[in-house]
Amino acid sequence: MKLTPLPAFEDNYFWMLHESGKALVVDPGDAAPVQAALQRLGAKLVAILVTHHHRDHTGGVNALREATGAVVHGPASEAIPGPFNPQRGGDTVRALGLRFEVIDVPGHTAGHIAYYCNNPGPGEAPLLFCGDTLFSAGCGRLFEGTPAQMLASLERLSALPGDTRVCCAHEYTLSNLRFARAVEPDNAPLAAYQAQCEALRAQGTPTLPSTVALEREVNPFLRSRQAGVVQSVASARGTDPQDPVAVFAALRQWKNEFR
Ligand code: ZN
Ligand code: FE
Repeated sequence: MKLTPLPAFEDNYFWMLHESGKALVVDPGDAAPVQAALQRLGAKLVAILVTHHHRDHTGGVNALREATGAVVHGPASEAIPGPFNPQRGGDTVRALGLRFEVIDVPGHTAGHIAYYCNNPGPGEAPLLFCGDTLFSAGCGRLFEGTPAQMLASLERLSALPGDTRVCCAHEYTLSNLRFARAVEPDNAPLAAYQAQCEALRAQGTPTLPSTVALEREVNPFLRSRQAGVVQSVASARGTDPQDPVAVFAALRQWKNEFR
């Protein structure tokens, strides 16, 4: 099974899976890059997976459905361009001969879902399509959910197998890493990862997919329970957060204001 990120807009990726002339795309905010990829690959679009209702993730859904007849899956509690198959946590989506487990990950939006496939092919690592919930070294903004919800969603994703390939919907890695370094200046794997990502971006190469194991080491939003992160948040924000949710909330607020 081939995995290709299709760059779009400023910094979006529409993830495409394809094999034997059939393809699936996640969060197509625009039809044109998807149509171009289908033509290049000689593939037919059979399914569209949507993680949440924002326009940069749904703008191409109607045009692609009309042009290809692809089946659309999306979060049950959000307004996705219909008709679509409503999915909620615990549901299974079948497409391209694969099984995707639907995981509820509220926080960025109230009904945001992620798609996890633990067996995309012989010898292939699991796949996670997490939309705007988990980014490499960062996480989505809390537009509709609470810090407690977002932290629970992120910890759910962080508990997936370490080799899971994390397919995020935006190339935000370098700016996330600048903030992560401010939070954990002494985290050696984080410094090494920043150097690696800067080299990739200098060549125009995506930093994604990441892996769950790497994110556990470098992503401050998955590390709200680490003493170093707690201390850093406390001194930067002048607060004394009493629990991981308070640490996470203060960390997210700090990032919102970070330049
Ligand atoms: Zn979004
Ligand atoms: Fe987005």
